[in-house]
Amino acid sequence: MDFVEPLAAWYRAGHRALPWRENKDAYRIWISEIMLQQTRVAAVVDYFTRFLAAFPDVCALAEADDDRLMKLWEGLGYYSRARNLKKAARLVVSDFGGILPASYEQLLTLPGIGSYTAGAIASIAYGIPVPAVDGNVLRVIARLTNDASDIADPKTKEQVFRLLLPELCKTDPGTLNQALMELGATVCVPNGAPNCALCPVRAFCRARMAGTEAVLPVKSAKKPRKTEEKTVFALKTQDGRFLGLRRPETGLLAGMYQLPEAEGFLSPAQMAEHLTALGFSPSGALAVYDRKHVFTHVEWRMRVCCAAGTLRALPAGLLLLDERHALPTAYRVCLPESDG
Ligand code: SF4
Repeated sequence: MDFVEPLAAWYRAGHRALPWRENKDAYRIWISEIMLQQTRVAAVVDYFTRFLAAFPDVCALAEADDDRLMKLWEGLGYYSRARNLKKAARLVVSDFGGILPASYEQLLTLPGIGSYTAGAIASIAYGIPVPAVDGNVLRVIARLTNDASDIADPKTKEQVFRLLLPELCKTDPGTLNQALMELGATVCVPNGAPNCALCPVRAFCRARMAGTEAVLPVKSAKKPRKTEEKTVFALKTQDGRFLGLRRPETGLLAGMYQLPEAEGFLSPAQMAEHLTALGFSPSGALAVYDRKHVFTHVEWRMRVCCAAGTLRALPAGLLLLDERHALPTAYRVCLPESDG
């Protein structure tokens, strides 16, 4: 593949300075790669710095207090990533002496580590020649090779993995993998708008030669997202705290905190009944407004019933939320201070 050396040289000559690139420490690379799944680089930098200050190594993460861990993840979304980090850290301590294994296959056995993350850690931290293929890399390779295969098809990912494997054996694998990621993130960007004029490998790009760069990659449509309607109660008590509860240990936002809620959009009379059942007496009129939050597979449409008032007694299973409790963005947008 004629673009490999020029691409690696471009990366070596200059790339974005990011905190997880300061050294090749496997723990830092692991944390950054997990945070970067589904989240933009700019949003991750501060989270990464705070997380590393709180949990500087695998042992500290293995012993992390769950509420503190979730609090540090608050706002990043996809909270199972944080839970899997701790589970994996415990296994690294118990089975690998506290050091992330220098083996692609062993990395794959850890919770939350799939082929992309295992490839990134193995190649960047340990110099093991194994590809790290994510959506960015699939897009770049589809364009460079002018390949119209559907990148949503797992077979295409396997093909790209096999295509890159021999190339990684000829060069520094960490550099080539990061160069592909960097090109996809900064130049060969999605949505039919690659910045070919700035591209270090434009002379080798088959899509550019064929004039297909704006229509590649091909990606089949996802199933439409389902929508759920609910009524969420943002109830502020005498001491300024909101009524909340802990979510179940499995399912969406498992183990996080939430505001009380009911299925469907309740009428004003039903809302009032609900408040009575909770033992909450509003001190003024109820404010009702709509919010929504979009997850990967589901969209929540929320009618928020907001009030300040007094609570007779704390109902069973409920608590008063404070800064220790990680409240996911889906509920945070329901608070009256949020503009949604
Ligand atoms: Fe992507 Fe354009 Fe570079 Fe080809 S020339 S790799 S389409 S940015």
